[in-house]
Amino acid sequence: MKLKAPESVFSSASFCPGCGHGLASRLIGEVAEELGIQHSLVTVVDVACCSFNIDYWKFDTIMAAHGRDIPTAVGVKHVRPGSSVLAYMGDGAAYSIGMAETIHAALRNDNICVIVINNSVFGMTGGQMAPTTLPGEKTATSPKGKDPTRYGTLSGVELLKHMDIAYLARGELVGSAGMIKAKKLIKSAFQHQLKGDGFSLVELLSPCPTNLNLPPVKARDFVHNEMTKYFPTGVFIDKGGVE
Ligand code: SF4
Repeated sequence: MKLKAPESVFSSASFCPGCGHGLASRLIGEVAEELGIQHSLVTVVDVACCSFNIDYWKFDTIMAAHGRDIPTAVGVKHVRPGSSVLAYMGDGAAYSIGMAETIHAALRNDNICVIVINNSVFGMTGGQMAPTTLPGEKTATSPKGKDPTRYGTLSGVELLKHMDIAYLARGELVGSAGMIKAKKLIKSAFQHQLKGDGFSLVELLSPCPTNLNLPPVKARDFVHNEMTKYFPTGVFIDKGGVE
């Protein structure tokens, strides 16, 4: 008897080829399994490209209003203190529309993990210039390159560096060494939450080939060679030394 093939094995939405989101999603899944939190983890995703994770993860996942992942995650943590809680978003949500939420959760040292995918543009809405766009970088709304005399480049990690939080780190979703390091950073952030240390934020520099108008390999090189000049990678806060 001929078996009927499913209508589609793919979800209706997916990350573009070469996008870093899929890599981060996988690393988060691996970390959750290794820490044994896969059945209690609650993830909150933003409405932007990261929202596709609703189709990929089998965790309990909530989609928050744009830029409101962090307060939603904080609310979940209050009602389910035994759950690990992750707020997953892009740089637009974390450092633009949701900047106040990011800062105030850090000020309160809320015991949640935040993962920010920084690709230097507003991805889902068409690649507009973002606070994280590099000086001179061409985007849909800065076709001649971002004018640094008018627009600064914001490092959310720099803003949080001197705050009393549990963990702060930045990695890059580039190459095997970058992936291994990124996974370690994600794991450390969750370990801090499990210890009850408070707010952890991991920023992951990520290629967005579609909006950079670059093939995936060149988009990856842009992250590694250009973005890291403005957004250096490393561990900046590690309260109590989980690493
Ligand atoms: S638009 Fe950019 S960030 Fe969004 S899925 Fe495509 S490559 Fe990834």
